[in-house]
Amino acid sequence: MKAVVFKNSGLPLSIEEIEDPVPSPTDMVIKVCACGICGTDLHWSEINNEESGFRDIHPGAVMGHEFSGEIVEIGKDVTNNWKIGERVCAMPQIGCAKCSNCRAGRPHRCDKALNRATPGNPGAYSEFVRIGAQETFRLPDSVTFQEGALVEPLAVGLHAVKRAKITAGDNVLIVGGGPVGLSVAVWCKFFGARHIIVSDLIADRAEKAGDFGATGFVDASVSNVPETYEKIVGSPPSIIFDAVGIAGSMQLSIDYISNYGKVVVVGLCMVSDRFEPATAVVKEVEIIFCFCYEHADFQMTLEMLAQERIEVKGLVTASVGFEQFPEAFERLKQPSNQIKVMLKPH
Ligand SMILES: [Zn+2]
Ligand SMILES: [Zn+2]
Repeated sequence: MKAVVFKNSGLPLSIEEIEDPVPSPTDMVIKVCACGICGTDLHWSEINNEESGFRDIHPGAVMGHEFSGEIVEIGKDVTNNWKIGERVCAMPQIGCAKCSNCRAGRPHRCDKALNRATPGNPGAYSEFVRIGAQETFRLPDSVTFQEGALVEPLAVGLHAVKRAKITAGDNVLIVGGGPVGLSVAVWCKFFGARHIIVSDLIADRAEKAGDFGATGFVDASVSNVPETYEKIVGSPPSIIFDAVGIAGSMQLSIDYISNYGKVVVVGLCMVSDRFEPATAVVKEVEIIFCFCYEHADFQMTLEMLAQERIEVKGLVTASVGFEQFPEAFERLKQPSNQIKVMLKPH
């Protein structure tokens, strides 16, 4: 099958023929209909893994963990009445389905979990991909394949907003108006935040942020973020979601947050970072780290999409075939007004 293959850090991705996936007895294979490009993949393809301390990516790996498609093959021990041709999306990890973490809907915590872009488990920048039956979700009729591929990034936002224990009337600042920041905005609106201000260095993202629940926007390339925030809201934020994940951003959040506020770190910073605890101590700041999502987050996202209770139209700004994909991937490493770019293998 055709797949988009990682060659080496700093090199463009390459389209190659790789072996078709074969399901183990408890897995299935889907024909990939949409797969989103994630910021994690962009970072990952560029960094020196030895320095980052994060999971390695090897030459020959296939990334892609935000996907949907149609079942084409079902392992012999798979239960739950899955049928060939069913439209589905899946959590990207394949867990053992038996341990306490898997049973709690957290396959990413499973000791035996297979992550994407690892030897033996290519991701969905490909024509077909293997998925764990336990991690698979049926797409309701009204949910498109593109929306199905958005469930993963939307579940990241939902999980973060749940971790923040947001309450009605909270004043939120979201640092970073990319896909993760906007997904957080969608759920802050859903859970009843009062002000939802997004800050970003790309002014073009302002209008789009408004489409996804933001009530205001700060162009951080020209404006002082805390000053502008206070001008709009009248007080500092009670919750800051850090959706950029670069060194130094935690310190800024601690400086901006109100007393007793919460700094919620969603962005995945892969280098060492430092902050001065004293400011956080004096303010009694809660710092909350977020990783992934749980089975229930996927399920809720799908239900809210099907019921049109969250607005995601416009999140996908481009859809490309294999030929244009490596270039589209490289272009996303530069600042742009793209939000989510998807591969359409079929
Ligand atoms: Zn992702
Ligand atoms: Zn497990």
